[in-house]
Amino acid sequence: MLAAAVLDLYPGVKISIGPAIEDGFYYDFEFPEGVTVTDADFPAIEAAMKKHIKAAETFEREDVDPATARARFLAEGQDYKVELIDDLVAGQVHGDAKTTEAVDSVSLYTNGPFTDLCRGPHMPNTKRIGAVKLLSVAGAYWRGDATRKQLTRIYGTAFFDKKELNAYLELLEQAKARDHRKLGKELGLYYFSEAAPGSAFWTPAGTRVFNELVRLSREMGDPRGYTEVKTPQLYDASLWKISGHWDKYRDDMFLTETGDDRPMGFKPMNCPGHYELYRQTKWSYKELPVRFSEPGLLHRNELSGALHGLMRVRHFCQDDAHLFVTEDQLQDELTACIEFAKATYDLFGFTDADIKYELSTRPENRLGTDEQWDLAEDILRQALESNGLEYEIGEGGGAFYGPKIDFHFTDSLKRSWQLGTVQIDYQAPERFDLTYTGADNADHRPIVLHRALMGSYERFIGILLEHTGGDLPLWLAPVQARVLPIADRHNDAARAIAAQAAEHGVRVWVDDRTESTGRKIRDGELAKVPYLLVIGDREAEEGTVAVRARHEGDLGSRPAAEFFAELGQAIAGRER
Ligand code: ZN
Repeated sequence: MLAAAVLDLYPGVKISIGPAIEDGFYYDFEFPEGVTVTDADFPAIEAAMKKHIKAAETFEREDVDPATARARFLAEGQDYKVELIDDLVAGQVHGDAKTTEAVDSVSLYTNGPFTDLCRGPHMPNTKRIGAVKLLSVAGAYWRGDATRKQLTRIYGTAFFDKKELNAYLELLEQAKARDHRKLGKELGLYYFSEAAPGSAFWTPAGTRVFNELVRLSREMGDPRGYTEVKTPQLYDASLWKISGHWDKYRDDMFLTETGDDRPMGFKPMNCPGHYELYRQTKWSYKELPVRFSEPGLLHRNELSGALHGLMRVRHFCQDDAHLFVTEDQLQDELTACIEFAKATYDLFGFTDADIKYELSTRPENRLGTDEQWDLAEDILRQALESNGLEYEIGEGGGAFYGPKIDFHFTDSLKRSWQLGTVQIDYQAPERFDLTYTGADNADHRPIVLHRALMGSYERFIGILLEHTGGDLPLWLAPVQARVLPIADRHNDAARAIAAQAAEHGVRVWVDDRTESTGRKIRDGELAKVPYLLVIGDREAEEGTVAVRARHEGDLGSRPAAEFFAELGQAIAGRER
């Protein structure tokens, strides 16, 4: 419909491809020399689309031999269609359709005056499109090839009726306001710079949030028997050859070499480093399970086009752990991993409705015996069930080395994000020759569990910002209370109050700028600070604070000591 409308309005335009994507569609055009299309042109294009919709044009399918179709598009000057047909005939990849077999017939769809090359299927007629809206325009290379001509890509969406469209547009507006890239800047948490593409620069406030999450991982891991380790960033290529990364993952790694020409790779995952560390000790069965945790810094060579704020970065830190367990311990350890995950998510107020647990089972290409897979899948199932969790099955979605449970989070805008994972791995112990000494004094293979709960801290913070709209839980807020002296003569009292707050473990900042109190309150609200504490004559004299709570509003005057004791307790208990 979009291509038909654009052809109506811009004679001489060349049309290329226009697939459906999540929540909509796009079409790539080469406009005639000197023609630039912007979103100011959308109303006219939409009006032309609506004409076709109103005409209730039937979509007629026609299967023709490629030569006939080619001649037709050649005559129309539609070079991109000609190229697509040539590739289809040669059996080459076409757009999102991975065609590998040469075709001897292609399908054309015609509605009204317009015919396009399309695999289909289509709806019966144009009238079925109830509501349509163009959303944005961007440059895009033909087939992503930067040596080819840059095309104009127009994005849009369509629904069966206007009500559905409006609900979607509303959600889109909310998403814009909650975009973590926007919030991160407004709240002064982190920045991105061309000085280090794809890597965040964390400000003191952002680092505070980041470190609080790392502290949480440590505080929850300690009583659960996790021991923290530190492993290197840069490893000899021989290690990546053993792990299989050199063959399968090298394109995604940052590589370098030492002065004596030794190839090295920055770690994209912590696992091999932990195996290497495990191997340095002769373990007895009495010492297992061994649970290595590491807030490990990782680097992955993501394409610049794939980078997206904190959600997809090149430099990030995972709440990673590897557990080395005996077969007998597998069930208990997995159950404990799931309990750990649930306890973590509970702290952020994520409910069972927010988190989806998915058990991914054996893929077609896999290592290990069927008995091993039967057992491992069964154990994962039991771990979920004994924690009383509902779960979905991802048939064939497991890793080649073992089945796994993934934790998916659905945010307030109904988008799904993968947080953590728990994976059983029988293969790593073989590859790295990991052993422990059993009760029989013989060497045995441990089983490895890979485990991350928040996933990457970067991504988790991005998700939290979007989910909460920047209203982080009290315990996580970089500044938990701002003290606002009304006049300069209240500054000393404000500082004394702040010192008192700090003693109770409250992160506090005194806003002693020469601004009006109204302005200070407004700025504190914009910064989404949980508590604003106003200090005037009366408060300075009585040792009280006038409390404005972010969510509850004006709480009136409270004795400072009593208020901070309560607040300190709520923070220490990570209450929400
Ligand atoms: Zn791992």
